[in-house]
Amino acid sequence: MKYELLKTEGRAKRGRFHTAHGVIETPVFMNVGTVAAIKGAVSTDDLRDIKCQVELSNTYHLHVRTGDKLIKELGGLHKFMAWDRPILTDSGGFQVFSLAGIRKIKEEGVTFNSHIDGRKIFMGPEESMQIQSNLGSTIAMAFDECPPALAERKYVEDSVARTTRWLHRCKEEMARLNSLPDTINKEQLLFGINQGAIYNDIRIEHAKAISELDLPGYAVGGLAVGESHEQMYDVLDHVVPYLPQNKPTYLMGVGTPANILEAVDRGVDFFDCVYPSRNGRHGHVYTNHGKLNLFNQKFEKDMRPIEEGCGCPACKTYSRAYIRHLLKAKEMLGMRLCVLHNLYFYNTMMEEIRNALDAGEFATYKKNKLASMEAGEQ
Ligand SMILES: [Zn+2]
Repeated sequence: MKYELLKTEGRAKRGRFHTAHGVIETPVFMNVGTVAAIKGAVSTDDLRDIKCQVELSNTYHLHVRTGDKLIKELGGLHKFMAWDRPILTDSGGFQVFSLAGIRKIKEEGVTFNSHIDGRKIFMGPEESMQIQSNLGSTIAMAFDECPPALAERKYVEDSVARTTRWLHRCKEEMARLNSLPDTINKEQLLFGINQGAIYNDIRIEHAKAISELDLPGYAVGGLAVGESHEQMYDVLDHVVPYLPQNKPTYLMGVGTPANILEAVDRGVDFFDCVYPSRNGRHGHVYTNHGKLNLFNQKFEKDMRPIEEGCGCPACKTYSRAYIRHLLKAKEMLGMRLCVLHNLYFYNTMMEEIRNALDAGEFATYKKNKLASMEAGEQ
């Protein structure tokens, strides 16, 4: 059995997921390294220091620049970036639909222009699986269309039906790839993705249909793309009960610490988001007393660490005043320290969530954490 459901509290799940690259304790936050690097000059040695369990890389980006075939020739993504723990690769679908110049969506797949050099590329379920197999990631995501949250019902229905047909093709193609002699990770796992914008009935029907494929995990996609937090929680309230409880449940691209606490409460146990690294690069840092903007004048003479008691590489040694100076002087170290702190904050929060679930005290933990972050610094 790949996923052990260790404990539940209400709908919240505490799990353990066994993979070819080691065990993932859940709930988990996956640290986003789009082009096989966490933006902000963070190395894989750093990732080990800041409690990262799973690194997430991007199929589309690695396909258009450097190329998955070259990465395969060099031994796969793990060897290439010197990271031996689990890696999840997204399918490229989201970027194809959001970044690239789309030319055509057909039953076979999508033709688009690379955002790097404009060259024409075709990607369908088979191509996405082949790229992810070349990368040799631990978990591959299904190729899907992510319709805009506010798209019209008819468009969403047609899109979701196609995403289901694409999922069958992904599953078949991955089985074929995993059986080939020169495949890097023959135990690569495929996660299906639930879509349906904010139409709960479409999402529920889709969740039922994809659950029948008995995949190792399932994601809820197409959220955090313009809908409100309340709409997102409402979708989770309706859809998560129709995804298998004895498999990982992954909420793609979410979110703030509060979003994560609310989603854990609704049965989600895998997360990823660019917020901690993106905000860190802009000098915005997370603490248990809310978010601070280190560019603020008030930190000019503040010799305290970003957060008292934080064990991250930034807080162990450096002050707010020094990091503010580095940011103002546009020194790369400033942004690096902020990103390290933020990822450590997220990874530590997930650890606290797991400990709270183990102790049967998640409800109390969530209430206190939210109240403390809300109250701000005294
Ligand atoms: Zn810190």
